[in-house]
Amino acid sequence: MQMIQAIRASIAIVVSRWVATVLRWTGRAGTSLPGLVATRISPQLVHRLLRQLDTCVLVTGTNGKTTTTEYLHALLSQDADRWLVNRGGANLLQGLLAALLTVSDARGRLRIRRAVLEVDEATLPLIAQSAHPRLVVLTNVMRDQLDRYGEIDQTLALLNRGLSDPSVTLVANADDPLCAALAEGRMDTVLYGFSSEVATPGCPDGVRDGAFCLKCGAELTYAGYFYGQFGMYECGHCGFGRVEPHFTGRVSSCDGFRQLEVEEVARRTSIQYSVALGLSGLYNAYNLLAAVAAARTLGVAPDRLNEGVARFSPPIGRMQVFPGDPESVLALIKNPAGANSVLRALIQDPREMAVCFAINDQDADGRDVSWLWDVDVEDFVATVTCQRFYCAGTRAADMALRLAYAGVPRERVTVLAALDDVTGIACGGQVQVLYVLSTYTALHPLAERLPRRLGLRRMVSEEVHA
Ligand SMILES: [Zn+2]
Repeated sequence: MQMIQAIRASIAIVVSRWVATVLRWTGRAGTSLPGLVATRISPQLVHRLLRQLDTCVLVTGTNGKTTTTEYLHALLSQDADRWLVNRGGANLLQGLLAALLTVSDARGRLRIRRAVLEVDEATLPLIAQSAHPRLVVLTNVMRDQLDRYGEIDQTLALLNRGLSDPSVTLVANADDPLCAALAEGRMDTVLYGFSSEVATPGCPDGVRDGAFCLKCGAELTYAGYFYGQFGMYECGHCGFGRVEPHFTGRVSSCDGFRQLEVEEVARRTSIQYSVALGLSGLYNAYNLLAAVAAARTLGVAPDRLNEGVARFSPPIGRMQVFPGDPESVLALIKNPAGANSVLRALIQDPREMAVCFAINDQDADGRDVSWLWDVDVEDFVATVTCQRFYCAGTRAADMALRLAYAGVPRERVTVLAALDDVTGIACGGQVQVLYVLSTYTALHPLAERLPRRLGLRRMVSEEVHA
C-alpha cells in the first residue's frame, strides 16, 4: 500500500512540474493548478510534504489572513532564514500543495522546512494533523460567504476541529469575543488587541457577528468598540469578558509615518517598541499586530522587527495605491465585516472621493450577494464627501440598488457595462481620489487595468480643450 502511495506521489510531482512549466511558458504562473492536478493524482501528497516541516505556522480566520501571512513572512525571514509562504490567498488544499511543490525535489523531499501558511477555515481541520503547527494565528471570526461556510456556528465548529491538538500555541485576537471564546481554556494562548484609548465609546450598531456570548447565549455589553464585534465586551450573565492581551497595540504618527506602538507583557515585565505601519486602516494595524505577536512568540527580537516590515510588500488590492490623476486605491471587500472595515478607513480619509464598487458573483466571490445588504452603506454615504459612485462587475445592478436604498440619488450613480470601463472613469471636478472596492475575482483584472488610468483626467481635459 505504501509502495503504491509513493509511486502515485512521484507521478503527481512529475505531472505537476510539467503543468507548472507549461503555465510559466504561457505566462500564467502563480495559480494553484499544479497543486490541483497533483491532489487529483495523489491525495496524500500534501500530507507527506506537510509532515516534513520542522516549523509550521498556520494563519487562519475570516478577514486579514493574506496580509497577516505576508507581514509574518517578512518578519520571520531574517538573514538567511528562509521560510516558505503560499502567496496570493492560495489557501485551499491545492494552493498549499502548489506552494510546497515549489520547494520539493523530484522525490518529494522539501528543501525548506519552515513554513508560514495561510489556511482557509474549512481547510484547517484537513491539514492540522499532518502540518502539526507550532503556532496557529487566528485573526478573527466573522460572517463570510454564506453559500460556502453557512453561518458563524459552522465556522466555529471547523476552527474547533482544526485546533483539537491542545499543545498548539494559539495566537488570537483578544478584542474579538468569538476568537477569545475559542482561546479560553487552552494550554498555550497568546492574545493581542488594541488599547482602550483607541476604542470608540459605547456599542456598535451595524454588523456585529459576536453580539451574543458564546458561553451562555446572553447579549454582550460593550464599554467601547473598535469595529465589527471587536471591543471591550463583557457578558453580564456568566462573566465571560475580554482578557487583557499579552500584546497591546496603539497607532501613532511620527514624522508623517504611521507607527504601531506595541506594549508586550510577559512574566510580569513589560517592554515597548514601535513598528512602521505601511498600510492604512485599523484592520491592517490588527494584521500587523497579529504578525508581531506571532513573530515575537517565535523568538524574533524587537529591534529586528522594523527591518522585517521593510521587506513586506502588500498583497494585491489591500489598499493598493495606483498613481494617476487622481490616484486610485484598490481594496478587496468580500463580506460585511471586511467591507465595513474598509469603509471606515475611507471615512478617515478627508479627501474628496469617487467610489467604484466592483461586485462579482463567481464561486470565489460567493454566489450569494445578499451580504451587500449587511454592509453599513447608509452610515458611509452620510459621512463621506463622495462626488460620484460607480458600480461594475456581474452584480453591478445589485450594488446600484443597494446605494439607492441607502439614499444616494440616482443621478450620482453610474452603472458600468463592463469591468474594463473602470479604466475609463475620468473623475471630474474636485475629486482627489478614486477608491475601487472589489470582490475577489475582479481584483486581479482591476490591478492590471488601474495603472492605465495614469494621467486620465489630464488627458480628458486636454481633449476638451483641443
Ligand atoms: Zn455569557
